[in-house]
Amino acid sequence: MMAYPWHQAHFESLLERKQRLPHALLMRGTQGIGKLAFAEALGRALLCERPDAGGRACGRCTACGWMEQGSHPDFRRLEPEALAEPREAEQESDKKPSQEIKVEQVRAIAGFINVTSHRGGAKVVLIHPAEALNINAANALLKNLEEPPPRTTFLLVAHRWHQLLPTVKSRCQHVALPPPPAGMAQDWLGQQGLREPGLALAQAGGAPLLAVRFDEEYWRERGQFLKAIAGPEFDALGVAERMRDQEPALLLGWLQKWSFDLAFSKVTGAVRYNPDFAPTIAAVAAGLDLLETLRFHRYMVRMQRSVSHPLNARLFLEQLLLTYSALLNRRFEPLAA
Ligand SMILES: [Zn+2]
Repeated sequence: MMAYPWHQAHFESLLERKQRLPHALLMRGTQGIGKLAFAEALGRALLCERPDAGGRACGRCTACGWMEQGSHPDFRRLEPEALAEPREAEQESDKKPSQEIKVEQVRAIAGFINVTSHRGGAKVVLIHPAEALNINAANALLKNLEEPPPRTTFLLVAHRWHQLLPTVKSRCQHVALPPPPAGMAQDWLGQQGLREPGLALAQAGGAPLLAVRFDEEYWRERGQFLKAIAGPEFDALGVAERMRDQEPALLLGWLQKWSFDLAFSKVTGAVRYNPDFAPTIAAVAAGLDLLETLRFHRYMVRMQRSVSHPLNARLFLEQLLLTYSALLNRRFEPLAA
């Protein structure tokens, strides 16, 4: 895996000072733009035993082979259980895999950090996403960042980097990775076989790696949902019933993008996320109050924080759609924050 084409210049400028890199780097930027691939490529370049003149991994040496197989003894990856490879135990247990990086995981790499490397070269710890470190895990990591072990590089990847502990943030050198220019992203999506790269990129808010995941089913279900909430005879409880098997987070995401577009359309006449519904959005927006629409959108953003574990998915959805219905009827009052 290499860094994506839109990050090549950033990648090369880091490789130019490969021998003088700080012991902790924080790759930060929005989700779905290729930060993880960037950090992985950097990890490979640091561990490769026969890098090319530009410092890039050769892809052929023993170290590169191990990285390919995920078995390099001088490389560790810290990520939430939920992101790791599916485990056999999963089927036997009802327990949901953790979304956090736990303190035990950080402690478990202590031995790795404190011994010399197997290959006599660098050691690399990749932490992804770093905002998943819970408070105890972050504090445990901090000790390593404060007293860096020799020749060990920490590569942190974060989408919501502002959520990191200030002390962790301040001990890393930040590498701010931008989203790709739209034209470049669309070309890349076209190469991946997408029929409507422009629409997919808009729907993903400019993040090509999110855009590439939308499949036929996604577009069909999103279309059904948007048609249901755009119609003049919108029925909140009826839609909640029809959508009862859908992921609450997905529905909330659609409604959040929709409400952004309603407000954006009122102000600018354009939409950002749903260009295929632009005329419908303009028509719905015409009947709305701008301030209420903005407040509703902010309410959707707040709801994102509780959506990963709604106690009752059906109630959550009903509340969401009833609130939207209140917006349409111009009696929206945000519930307690
Ligand atoms: Zn190599």
